[in-house]
Order: sequence, then structure tokens, then C-alpha cells
Amino acid sequence: MAEDTLRFIVDSNVGKLAKWLRMLGYDAVFFDGEDDAYMIDRALKEGRVILTRDTQVMKRGVITSGRLKAILIDSDQPEPQVRQVIDTLHIDSQSRLFTVCLECNNPLEERSKEEVEQRVPPYVFQTQQQYMECPVCHRIYWRGTHWQAMVQKLERLTKQHR
Ligand SMILES: [Zn+2]
Repeated sequence: MAEDTLRFIVDSNVGKLAKWLRMLGYDAVFFDGEDDAYMIDRALKEGRVILTRDTQVMKRGVITSGRLKAILIDSDQPEPQVRQVIDTLHIDSQSRLFTVCLECNNPLEERSKEEVEQRVPPYVFQTQQQYMECPVCHRIYWRGTHWQAMVQKLERLTKQHR
């Protein structure tokens, strides 16, 4: 499976993975419904990998036959969960960072400094050169302290294992 086509559907029992995967630059939708059949149906239609802790889901014929890819997540802690997905699918955890909106899962677009001047705090405008905007929810992203903290956390996660 080519890495740039990887897309995910994240079961509610591993819900925190959705934001991590978006941060890594992958399309990840959250499934909070009751009916697993709906999740499986959507995964098939949209070519998404299922991430779940539900062993019943893994027993479905469509998954045991290999027609649909699903990963049974071992840990109940978010960080080992992220590491398992990165390792299992050999995800490059650096090159696509922050290209997807963390809130609504849409691809971000680059914005010039001038375009965001009236929309970010003055101290941000003075110190940051690169900006991205979500064309849907219009949230603006920049490489501030939150970003750096997330990147460092990710580096720790991926280094522990290599
Ligand atoms: Zn958005």
C-alpha cells in the first residue's frame, strides 16, 4: 500500500489516534457509532484502514480474508498506540507533519504572512514566517510552541523503537 494513499477510520475505543494521525498528515475519520457494520462499510467504500481494540471486528470475514485492512491496537495508552500504527505501516512520521486540519480532517493550504496578518496575535505575526489554513473551518496553524511540543513528543515516540 502506497503511503500517500493511507487513510484511516478510527474506532471510538482508540479515538485519540485520530488527532495523532491528522498531525502526522493522514486523513483519519473518527467512528463513534454503535454499529460496527457501518464502520466496515465506510472503510470499504473509502479505502480506509480500520484501527480498533475490538477483537470482534477483527473476526469479520472481510478482514480475515484480507479484503479490508484493520489493525488491532494492543495498548490502551495513546502513545504506544501511535507507535504501533507507525511501526506496523512503516509510516514516515516527519515528512507530512501538519498538513491536515486537526479539528476537521481537511487538507491545509499554505498562506502568506500578509494574508494572516489580521488573524493571528501580533506576537505570532512577529515571530512566525510560515502559516497554514484550513479552508473549511478557517483555523490557522503555525509552528508555535504547541507544534514544537507535539513534534518533540513524536520524536521521542519513534526513537524509542528504532
Ligand atoms: Zn479545519
